[in-house]
Amino acid sequence: MNKATASTQDIRRDNRRRVLELLREHEPVARNEIARIAGLTEPAISRITRELVDARLIEEIAGNGSGTKPGRPVVALRLCNRGAYVVGINISADNQWTCIADMRGEILAKRPFALLDISEPETVIKIGAEETKHLIQAVGIDRSRLMGAGIIVAGTVDPASGELLESPNLKWPRMPLAQKLEAALDLPVKIESRPMALLRTEKRIGAARGVENAALVLPALGIGGAVMIDGRLMRGRANRAGQIGHLRMTGSNIRCTCGKIGCLDTVASGHAILEQLNLVPHDKRAPRHQIAHARLLEHAVALAASKDASAIGVLRSAGRQLGLALRAVAAVADPEVIFLAGDVGHADSYLAGVREVFATDSDTPIMPSTVSNDMAAISLALEAFVYSHDLDIAQLRNAAI
Ligand SMILES: [Zn+2]
Repeated sequence: MNKATASTQDIRRDNRRRVLELLREHEPVARNEIARIAGLTEPAISRITRELVDARLIEEIAGNGSGTKPGRPVVALRLCNRGAYVVGINISADNQWTCIADMRGEILAKRPFALLDISEPETVIKIGAEETKHLIQAVGIDRSRLMGAGIIVAGTVDPASGELLESPNLKWPRMPLAQKLEAALDLPVKIESRPMALLRTEKRIGAARGVENAALVLPALGIGGAVMIDGRLMRGRANRAGQIGHLRMTGSNIRCTCGKIGCLDTVASGHAILEQLNLVPHDKRAPRHQIAHARLLEHAVALAASKDASAIGVLRSAGRQLGLALRAVAAVADPEVIFLAGDVGHADSYLAGVREVFATDSDTPIMPSTVSNDMAAISLALEAFVYSHDLDIAQLRNAAI
């Protein structure tokens, strides 16, 4: 194939992706309207939409007839309810589940892994794949329309190679995680670190639509983060950009899960909150206890919500420490907004502590994130396999016959 042909194909694939994404946002919508918004010619839109109708990803419906030409029926296009499906999986200490969604991102079913211990990666992968297969059967979808899976994971990942690079909280070694899951699930897989997936989703369908510069911090048992500058998610040298949990803070002499002394994690994370509330001693952070600790952290957040003074005090003080660290984030990334995600990030007392310190230094708004982990995993899969340059239209066309 010569270069010119390759680039024409690239443009076609890109236009198809744009038209599909535009239909998701504006459905039901007429062809001439799609052409207008996409800035493409009507013949181009006719060709693309015919291809999508043939693959049964979209369908024609009669419009309401209120067009500018009376008497002429208006035909609008919308997504097919059963056009395509994706799987979303979350692997972290606080949550391990699998779910299936349609191409609008509506979750059809969700199932927890029911694990008591997540320290053994091979077991988690095996159980996760089994639960996913059960779920696919239970929902009874057309397997040939299942396009892929999006996996969000606590740790740093290289989405290009599909490798899990490091995970201080899961304590899993570096491994080709996407490849292992692809084999176990018999599906194409896209993996992403949970904070990065959450920020991508805020940009795609959440509160950061139209925003080009934003940061997101996820204070779970450990602290994760992500940064977007000029509309692009920053990855950095080793995919660690935005992972502020291991920023050195003055005033802490506590040893961190990463081995260093005085990281932000030791004073502002869920682990720090549990220690300060005397719920978990510092030397009991073995990976096999992670699920129990995640439940204890939910308990601590619930205590603060029910006005328990010591829980409120501890969450607020942990929040203040994050507020200090966010000054550095604001200085480097110059964001329009900073999102706090997860149960701790959404807790009033924690949020108040962050704002108390941060607002003395910056007018950047700090707000709770607006997208859930479910939405992040599903959105990751939809972006990778459906609203994608790599959409396998041939697979869908064959399924339609
Ligand atoms: Zn550390």
